[in-house]
This record gives sequence, structure tokens and C-alpha cells, in this order.
Amino acid sequence: MTKAMGLISGGLDSILAAKVILEQGIEVVGVSFVTPFFGSQGAVRAAQSLSIPLHILDITEIHLEMLRRPKHGYGSNMNPCIDCHCLMLREAGRVMDTEGGDFLFTGEVLGQRPMSQNKGSLHVVERESGYEGRVLRPLSAKLLPETLPEQSGKVDRERLLSIQGRSRKRQMELAERYHIKAYLTPAGGCLLTDPGFSRRLADLFHHQDDVQIRDLELLKIGRHLRFSPAVKVIVGRHAQDNEGIVRLVAPGDDLLKVEAFPGPLCLIPNGGSMDDIKKAASICVRYSDAPVDEMVSVLWSRNGAEKRISVRSCPPSLPAELMI
Ligand code: SF4
Repeated sequence: MTKAMGLISGGLDSILAAKVILEQGIEVVGVSFVTPFFGSQGAVRAAQSLSIPLHILDITEIHLEMLRRPKHGYGSNMNPCIDCHCLMLREAGRVMDTEGGDFLFTGEVLGQRPMSQNKGSLHVVERESGYEGRVLRPLSAKLLPETLPEQSGKVDRERLLSIQGRSRKRQMELAERYHIKAYLTPAGGCLLTDPGFSRRLADLFHHQDDVQIRDLELLKIGRHLRFSPAVKVIVGRHAQDNEGIVRLVAPGDDLLKVEAFPGPLCLIPNGGSMDDIKKAASICVRYSDAPVDEMVSVLWSRNGAEKRISVRSCPPSLPAELMI
């Protein structure tokens, strides 16, 4: 029996691509990926609804290495989609080499994304993945060169599709036909397409060579204010951010909180100077319910030792000036 490995993101296109292949009586195994920027929850739901097995691969390390210097650059944010697709196909191909399979497929649609899904990029992705000729895009296959599984008759090209462009009309019709109701929006699960997150990530890469998973997790929390090349402050925006800060605080960090009034937690990852701490404390007061024109007591802790410092709120314009 012919067997295919499909990249399943949980988005509609990857689900439709799997449907088109399954309809030909081909065995389909899904592959999905996890990094700090996207997860596999959508893919798990999709695989369940498609009744196919799913491999979940954690590619954090190699993805981060690629992300710092993507050969084909970034999209409109920090999304290196061409390199990311190459990497994912390469890793899915490894699974195929190990457990057997005839070809790889994806839900890519010709012309849907101007930079990463034009004819040239689709070919580059296929070639650089190391699986040239064995990467099928079922939704646009009739508009693309014939692949090896089509040439050998393992896949019936006539039953593949010819969707192209940014309109989602055809996909919506197919979703209706296949009764597909739950799926992620295109790129919906990837933080690298988010402008705010991308700004913080670019700032991190610019100021820090050795980036750890915790640094990336912190990017998902709060407002980020840059004090100097070595020091930034993270200010919680709500209870969930404050819980995240508590979960991620590490030895050597400075943690600040207004003592007698409700307000955010402020974190200086890897600690700052006394001037930095006082400035962060004044910002902490600004975002709290404490009076702006009085000295306010702020609890400052580092490595489990707690002290009190008294500061006044910073000028209202300061947070915006420092915001990343
Ligand atoms: S949107 Fe994100 S997950 Fe998707 S290819 Fe681009 S970088 Fe990779």
C-alpha cells in the first residue's frame, strides 16, 4: 500500500491536503512540530478528526539555530517561512526514511503567500529539504510539475487539485463538503507572525547571543522595556502575566512589587544595577494603584532575599519611551 507522510499544522489547508490523499486510498501518517513559537494542539485535533496517526517532533534546538540566521530571510515579521518549511520537510523525511513511506505532502497553496508560496519558493523548499520529486502539494498539484509518486502511478494526478491564490473560497467549499468545522486560521498558531512578539524577539537576538528557552518564554509575557543593551524589564499586564513571571523567575533575577497597593510584578531577568532596580521600581509604581506623587514602598527580591525600597512613580512618558 502506498504510504504518505503529511505535514499537519491543524490549519484547514493541511487537513484538506490529507483528505485529498486519503480519498485515493493512500495510507497517511501526520507529522507535526513543536517549538516555543508554535505547538501541536491543532494538529492533534486534526489527526483525531482525520483518524490518522501523528508524530509530534520537538525541533526547538534546530529551529532556533535556523531562526537566528535564516538563509532565505524573514517574512513580514520574524517568520522565516521558507527555511522553516525546508526544515520541517527534512525532519518529516527522516521519519519517512525510518518508518517507510513513498512521499511527503503539505497543505501549501500556490500563490497563497507571496513570498513563501510562489513557484520558485515551493521548488526551493522541495530541493533544500533533500526530497526533490517526493514532495506533493495536493491542493495545487495540477499547477506544479509532476512529482515522482504521480509519475509512478502511486498518486492519481487527475484527482489532485489546482487551487491557487489568496482567496479561501475553494477551501471553504471543500471544508463544507468534507464537514470540516474546527481548524486553526492560516499561520494562526505561530507567534513568529505576530508583530509585537517579533519586535521583542528581534530585540532579544540583537542584545543576547546565548538565548535560552526561558528567554523565549518570557517574550510571551507582559510589556518589555529596554533600559540598556544588557538590561530589560518585564512588567506584568494582568494576573496571568504575573503568574507567568512567578513561574519563570530564576536565580539572579530582580523581582519587584508595590507593597501596599494592587499592581504588577516587574522582572529584571539576570538582574540589574541599583539604578536599574530603582527605575524598574518607579515603573512598577506607575502601573500600580499607588498614588503617583508620593513615596511608595516596593518589595524587591533577588535569590530569595527580600528588601524594601521607597520610590516615586516614574514620569508617565517613560514606559512608552523604553517600550520594545
Ligand atoms: S508561519 Fe511559522 S510555523 Fe509556519 S512556516 Fe512560517 S515560521 Fe514556520
